[in-house]
Amino acid sequence: MNRKPFICGNWKMYKNRTQTIDFIKKLCSETLDLKDRDILIAPVYLYLDAALALTENTAVLICAQDVYFRPEGAYTGEISPVQLRDIGCTHTLIGHSERRKYFFETDEIVNLKTRSALWASLMPIVCIGETREERQEERTFDVLSRSLKNAFHMIERDQAENVTVAYEPVWAIGTGLTATPEIAQEAHNFIRKTLAELYGREFADKTRILYGGSVKPGNIKGLMSMEDIDGVLVGGASLSYEDFMKIIRFDCV
Ligand code: PEP
Repeated sequence: MNRKPFICGNWKMYKNRTQTIDFIKKLCSETLDLKDRDILIAPVYLYLDAALALTENTAVLICAQDVYFRPEGAYTGEISPVQLRDIGCTHTLIGHSERRKYFFETDEIVNLKTRSALWASLMPIVCIGETREERQEERTFDVLSRSLKNAFHMIERDQAENVTVAYEPVWAIGTGLTATPEIAQEAHNFIRKTLAELYGREFADKTRILYGGSVKPGNIKGLMSMEDIDGVLVGGASLSYEDFMKIIRFDCV
């Protein structure tokens, strides 16, 4: 299947303005020739504007780390999909496990955010994944099926085509524990089959499914060699320029 690899860095609540600008400037100039993959950075909200200005006409995409589900209103501290589009932002993460854990985001909120982002023409990267307990209790597939179906609830196929799914097993995020390529492939294949149930085989074959959870230069090649792994969402290792570049150039490591 011909799905363009998608390499994404999630910077969480790290990097100041200077560090953000310096990194993105270097990244843009070093990736100009890399037309066979998509590269994306999700900096903190504060620096989105600066990041977007630097990445115009480059190969680097800029992504918000979250979005609210209303277009405007009295929601102190929130940022709407319309405002993100207004500054030229094209992508947003939704449902990252840290949002679910620390900010009590439910599948229902993830669905509202996904629908709202799509309505505003913002492309969501929807994160799903099981906890350590859920895996130990052999509930991984139930969790993935439920969270995927809830995320896509009431979304028509032509809109759903703009969604990227990120499989991020919670036990692997920021822990140094990576799912083996085989474990990740099994989950990705299950996600693709579930997408086929929802929208048909052709849709499932086109949708990109990213793996996230302690991705590093040392494990990127194995992960990317799996049939259903179309890219990665990288947290910790995306903060180091050298490591992120090695991950981006996974075929040369
Ligand atoms: C993430 O933040 O989405 C993530 C996968 O983090 P890490 O790579 O640090 O595990």
